[in-house]
Amino acid sequence: MRRFMTVENNQNTDFLCLECGHINENNSELICQPCQTPLDKTFYDLLINYSLRAIRYGYNYRTNYERQVKSKGKINEKYSLLDPQNEVQWLAAAALSGVAGNLVYDTIKHVAKQIKIRLTEKSKTIELKQVDKDTFEIVSDEQTLAKFVLYIQNYYKGNAKLDKRVADAIAEEEIVHAMTEGKSEQLTNTLSKQENGKAMQKMFLEMFKNGAEEAKKLRQQGPTPQQLEKLFSLVKKNRGNPVDKKTKNKKASAKRKK
Ligand SMILES: [Zn+2]
Repeated sequence: MRRFMTVENNQNTDFLCLECGHINENNSELICQPCQTPLDKTFYDLLINYSLRAIRYGYNYRTNYERQVKSKGKINEKYSLLDPQNEVQWLAAAALSGVAGNLVYDTIKHVAKQIKIRLTEKSKTIELKQVDKDTFEIVSDEQTLAKFVLYIQNYYKGNAKLDKRVADAIAEEEIVHAMTEGKSEQLTNTLSKQENGKAMQKMFLEMFKNGAEEAKKLRQQGPTPQQLEKLFSLVKKNRGNPVDKKTKNKKASAKRKK
């Protein structure tokens, strides 16, 4: 899945500044244009990869399965997975910066606004993919955005109050993905060699156990609360669009001096 992401994702010179929340485009130097903060690529990758999982299991599957339980009383359709794109991962990173109890409304609004503009621009040249359409819906509707933020934070904190059917269906997805990620070769080999039913059963059980352990490990491999608390410090400090506000204030005080 991750390999697919990098092939698909050729916008890797676009990044979200973790200090001021500015979305930099075509910036291969990885130094944020407005605030001049160099990007900590190692931490950024960890955060963005974690965001992907939080979106997938904490929001996408959850909203889909909750909808099914609500309307049909059961889950009879398995959700087909669309991997998140940059934009929604940035939004999730903004949501995660609030898990330590910080007020992150400004950061989220700041990032959401830029995403909306970016997707609007994108839609003028190409037809938006379903993932982008979903993201556009999140950033365009206040209620959906609030739900997204809550669900991402729930995933991180592990404190979602889930219907058992929803929780089980998500756990199943999470384990199956952890089971098969990067293991397709092993799986194909075993399937072609093993014809004995018992051996097959044993292998699947083994893989399932490994998958469950791996899923648990992946959940714990996220950013620490301390790291998240430090995110977007410029936005938090200046309460709002940091760079614009600063220049506006400067201009305003310059005017006043005259
Ligand atoms: Zn910046």
